[in-house]
Amino acid sequence: MDRELALTLVDAGRMPVLAALLDAGTAVPFASPPAVLVGASWPTIWTGLAAGDHGRAAPEVLLPGTYDVVRWRPEHIGGTALWHQAARAGKRYVVVDVPHSVVGADAAGVEVVDWGSHDRETGRFSAWPDGLADELLQRFGPHPVESCDALVRDDGASALEAALLDGIERRVELATALLAEQEWDFAWIVFSESHCAGHHLWNADPAARESLLRVYEALDHALGALREELDGDDQLLVLLSHGIGPHHDGTHLLGEVLRRLDDAWARAGAWTRTAERVRRRLRRPASRPDGWVRTLDGSRSFFRAPNSAPYGAVRLNVHGREPRGRIAPGEQYEACLGWLTHELRTLANPAGPTPAVRRVLRTSDLHEGPALAWLPDLFVEWETDAPIEALESPTIGRVTGTYTGLRTGDHRSGGLLVTPGPATSAPEASDAEVDATVVARAIATSLGLELEPPGHVAPRFP
Ligand SMILES: [Zn+2]
Ligand SMILES: [Zn+2]
Repeated sequence: MDRELALTLVDAGRMPVLAALLDAGTAVPFASPPAVLVGASWPTIWTGLAAGDHGRAAPEVLLPGTYDVVRWRPEHIGGTALWHQAARAGKRYVVVDVPHSVVGADAAGVEVVDWGSHDRETGRFSAWPDGLADELLQRFGPHPVESCDALVRDDGASALEAALLDGIERRVELATALLAEQEWDFAWIVFSESHCAGHHLWNADPAARESLLRVYEALDHALGALREELDGDDQLLVLLSHGIGPHHDGTHLLGEVLRRLDDAWARAGAWTRTAERVRRRLRRPASRPDGWVRTLDGSRSFFRAPNSAPYGAVRLNVHGREPRGRIAPGEQYEACLGWLTHELRTLANPAGPTPAVRRVLRTSDLHEGPALAWLPDLFVEWETDAPIEALESPTIGRVTGTYTGLRTGDHRSGGLLVTPGPATSAPEASDAEVDATVVARAIATSLGLELEPPGHVAPRFP
């Protein structure tokens, strides 16, 4: 849920429950993990580990040591869910639709996964204990939005709004039933309807904007209903996890831009290119890893890497790290990063603000930890004031292409953490903002739990 929009609605008297919590408690701006934003945010909140430790940055990942891009699966996470850690300390819990989580082998409480999440990473609704999934389906039905993209494509934005409002009501019924009927020390209920609404109802069109605001109002009402289930000594923590803004970025052009830059940097010889093509053509499908999406061209010095929107990402083909690395670590790696940064910053958007790239960020300046090899080398932060339908520079000439996706809105940093009580009881913040690790620590502290240290579990592909 977008912080600015929510606060505007609070001021207008349209989110009275949040308004009351803000009056009684303390609100701290919440900053998403830099350049990976929503891709890493939730896994950090539910493991307490930063992206460089747990390894999840996006729905897809370049499998380290290969050129294979695979779909990320929740089992790959380099960390342990906070609720599984809490269970070992004897705590009981209710967890509903925490993004990118999975019903764990060591489940010990009530876990509901992908009943109505925006990104159903596990691909199916599951729950623990055994039999709970069927029971919940019988009592509350499926979430009416299976895929917001498909629903908007087939039935339009107003159908999506209606389905989201219905989904919020059903989620409240499901969650309040679990809260009332189950024993718990700790409950975590996630509403993803604002995420779907942000992607599809964010629009300059006032009617669509009003749709988005109605979803926010319904979520405020839902928060009020859940609060009714709490006892006087329960602590309520409310997180608006990230903001939403216009879907203006140039990531759809980045692959072609990088191909042209690669030609200019040091295009591989004809023999290397042919060998790479043959290698890829002859590869047997059976040798592809689980969740395979595509294989990158190993004859290139760098390529577009998977990342969460709206940041583009670049991975260098580094000798010793990638199977057929073309960039030597050290001096050449530094030179290539420097050159790419310069070239990307030179890109102009003929129909919008120039340069089209606000910043090029080095991953090693933003993130650290053992899972750094799972992340790209560079992030491209686009200027999002106007659509990017062409990019040009003296080196690449002109690359054109229109974003053909359905989403009118896209993520941006900027959430809000609302904690009970005055500022003295808020989680300690180094400066004005808190990050996702702080949220995890605040939850752990309230449970008297010491979180597992980084490196305890490494990201893995079974
Ligand atoms: Zn969605
Ligand atoms: Zn999203």
